[in-house]
Amino acid sequence: MRIETHQAGKRYGDSWGIREVSLTIPQGAPLLFLGPSGGGKSTLLRLLAGLEIPDEGEVWVDGHPLPKDEASLRSHRRRLGFVFQDGNLFPHLSAEENITLPLCRAHAQSPEAARARAQQLLQRFQLLPHTQKRPAELSGGQRQRVALARALGHNPEILLLDEPTSALDPEMTAEVLDALEDIRQEGKTLILATHATSFARRTGGRVAFLRNHRLEWTGSTQDFFQSPPTEAARSYLAKILRD
Ligand code: ADP
Repeated sequence: MRIETHQAGKRYGDSWGIREVSLTIPQGAPLLFLGPSGGGKSTLLRLLAGLEIPDEGEVWVDGHPLPKDEASLRSHRRRLGFVFQDGNLFPHLSAEENITLPLCRAHAQSPEAARARAQQLLQRFQLLPHTQKRPAELSGGQRQRVALARALGHNPEILLLDEPTSALDPEMTAEVLDALEDIRQEGKTLILATHATSFARRTGGRVAFLRNHRLEWTGSTQDFFQSPPTEAARSYLAKILRD
């Protein structure tokens, strides 16, 4: 699956979320969205995911502009998986039901097939003892691992993650990043907005540095960390490495 943006912009009222972003998502290698808060990382993720429609420019998928009608956006979204900052789990459902519900509703799987898939994923992420627990009964790290399992249920082509560890303490962050590393090694394409620099460095791939609603720089992760390409990238890195 090939996703590109061509001069894409998204406006919120009088101000811009992002402007004039042209970017090709690398296949098979992770893409990290780095940059100061408010720079446009979430907005760009949401555009790529078909959760928002650009006000300017376009998102292209496999060589064609992504149509803006709801049915086309829905079928685009079905090819992807998402993990949000707070997991976004359904609070009234168990860990298992959080995984099976979208498989049955959005992906037309039978309840038996969905349950078998959920069990497989719960096992993979060391969550089997927590199968019947609701989100409030899980730790933050366990909740995010359920969110990862849910996002992978239908075997998406690309997994998009918006600061999946920012609400977690260091130990739980490590749990989630280990799970993510496992997914990366499996060869899944990841697009990840994060401030977790140790993971970013380890992961390799490419960086898109977003600042002031624009794509300021894109290139290899190694280059970004070894010699930050702009003054703003240097001060951003100095700040997050200090925190
Ligand atoms: P980041 O993810 O890098 O922190 P965001 O994409 O969340 O940045 O935000 C980019 C800009 O768009 C910010 O100025 C933010 O205030 C604005 N923005 C994002 N989402 C909304 C929204 N739903 N309504 C109004 N403004 C928004």
